[in-house]
Amino acid sequence: CSKENGRGRWTSYDPRMDDEREERNRLELDLRAAIDNDEITVVYQPVVDVRDRELVSVEALARWNRAGHGLVPPDVFIPVAEASGMIDALGISVLRQACAQMRAWPELGLSVNVSPGQFRDPAFASRVAAVLADTGMNPHHLVLEMTETYFVRSPERAIQALERLRKIGVQIALDDFGAGFSSVGYLRKFGFDRMKIDRSMVSALDGGQNAVETLQATVALARSMGIPVTAEGVETEEQAVALRLAGCDELQGYLFGKPSAPEAIEDRRRRSAGRRAHTP
Ligand code: C2E
Ligand code: MG
Ligand code: MG
Ligand code: MG
Repeated sequence: CSKENGRGRWTSYDPRMDDEREERNRLELDLRAAIDNDEITVVYQPVVDVRDRELVSVEALARWNRAGHGLVPPDVFIPVAEASGMIDALGISVLRQACAQMRAWPELGLSVNVSPGQFRDPAFASRVAAVLADTGMNPHHLVLEMTETYFVRSPERAIQALERLRKIGVQIALDDFGAGFSSVGYLRKFGFDRMKIDRSMVSALDGGQNAVETLQATVALARSMGIPVTAEGVETEEQAVALRLAGCDELQGYLFGKPSAPEAIEDRRRRSAGRRAHTP
């Protein structure tokens, strides 16, 4: 805004900028109130086994129904929570709700997303341990999903933070593989327990052989390290087949179910249990 041209000089007085700033402040205030009043809810998206397509776990995803505005996407409010010091409270609230819900689904795994801002906090591991203890959640059934950002920025501290979490017994997944600058090398360097292939890599499969080969090579490398691979954003049968042939272990996407309220997962679980009981 230090441009010397006629328009640039007025940038700081642009009323639209004030509007934006004001809207952003209001969003932040509303979010703070929503967290304090436990208005951040959790939906669960099915993750299925690639072979029989039965439900094996769920990913917990935060939802905010902002009064007068409707649903605000997490891609909007998570960064606001990060930037204004609210991510710890928000993240722990989601973790607590999801772990409590899992008491009804003891056979399923649970994935919860963790932001760099939470992970960076030296007290994070002990907070997770406290939630596990309070809710009776089995640590071995919990996967914490993280993107590569913090690992790339502060590898030493990230490794220490991972150590603290491993001692508790939870697993760590590298989320959104293929969306950013993540490389298969990180899997070994940081010792991730699982890998999630980003939706962009899955939709690229529709484009042809190059994407298929990239996927196959990626999955083969992960599996050669004994790391199970989950593909995200699976929307078509063709994608599901290509992902199975490439060696993915688990699939997640609208083809198998959108993120939904616990009741919908409950129905699905019951159907799944019924089918298992009838399998000889
Ligand atoms: P993510 O962890 O990669 O979660 C997967 C996202 O892909 C979810 O979006 C999910 O609804 C969407 N998705 C799943 N299958 C499909 C599909 O077949 N097609 C399409 N188009 N989309 C699909 P959502 O719920 O909007 O969340 C977006 C991101 O916000 C998440 O990406 C995650 O990074 C972040 N997020 C959500 N909840 C939390 C949370 O509790 N804590 C933190 N730190 N981040 C969260
Ligand atoms: Mg995730
Ligand atoms: Mg993801
Ligand atoms: Mg993501």
